[in-house]
Amino acid sequence: MLYIGSHTSYLKDKQLMGVVEESLSYGSNIFMFYTGSNQSTLRFPVNKEITKEAHELMKKNGIDKDKCIVHAPFIINLANNSDPDKYNFYINFLKQELERCIELDIKNIVLHPGSYTTLDRETGIKNIANGLNEALENIEGVNLLLEYMSGKGTEVGTSIDDLAKIINLLNEKTKEKVFVCLDTCHINDSGIDIGNFEEFLDEFDEKIGINKIKCVHVNDSYNAVGAHKDRHANLGYGTIGFDKLINVIYNKRLDNIPKILETPWINRNEKNTYAPYKYEIEMIRKKEFYDYINQK
Ligand code: FE
Ligand code: FE
Ligand code: ZN
Repeated sequence: MLYIGSHTSYLKDKQLMGVVEESLSYGSNIFMFYTGSNQSTLRFPVNKEITKEAHELMKKNGIDKDKCIVHAPFIINLANNSDPDKYNFYINFLKQELERCIELDIKNIVLHPGSYTTLDRETGIKNIANGLNEALENIEGVNLLLEYMSGKGTEVGTSIDDLAKIINLLNEKTKEKVFVCLDTCHINDSGIDIGNFEEFLDEFDEKIGINKIKCVHVNDSYNAVGAHKDRHANLGYGTIGFDKLINVIYNKRLDNIPKILETPWINRNEKNTYAPYKYEIEMIRKKEFYDYINQK
């Protein structure tokens, strides 16, 4: 079955209800959101009543809560422990995010593994594994999904090997709770042509295991294979192209795995700005590209 949705806004007054209403307006059957700003750790308390009502609305509309995703803010960086206070702050903040997932009854959280900055890649990998062991120690019922990154700056998790190394360093209990989130823009920018996605999955299966893939972010890219840039483009308007992305979305080995769109809003800085997701989801369901940006 196709589980398709997008990034949505979680705001203070409507919280999860706003996320569900926005998702339904796009024709989604799953969603992803940040529990506040993606660039800060400022968070407001979860309202139980709203959460309950939102879950009722999800049930009524066939949104499978177990396939929905929270995205941790970008600023959490478990790779660099050169400032122990900061490193501990990030571990503690991640714990709070995991607890918020439990309060919101959302079972998956995506995390950027982090950047090693002044350290080196192998040290970064160890720090991430140690941080995850600590953050997940007393958490049950939430999957942590490490995102495959594009290789900007000193990012870790920019190859199957990086992710395999992190997972192999986890203790047995944590290992069961840690999964992977792919991102087609990031894979492209890391140096792999999405046209060779089957070979990519073969390698992933051999080194990590395909059952560890819990989510795929579906984005086109503004940049060439291996550019290490991470600029998402709308489906069919980038260098990957619509057909290769459709092949990922409908890949048999990833059936039932949630697919999330994180493509940019159209005319972002103008008055007539709008979300692309309704159009992209329609195109995905029809498996046919349509130039909605120019023909709308
Ligand atoms: Fe991400
Ligand atoms: Fe992503
Ligand atoms: Zn990205």
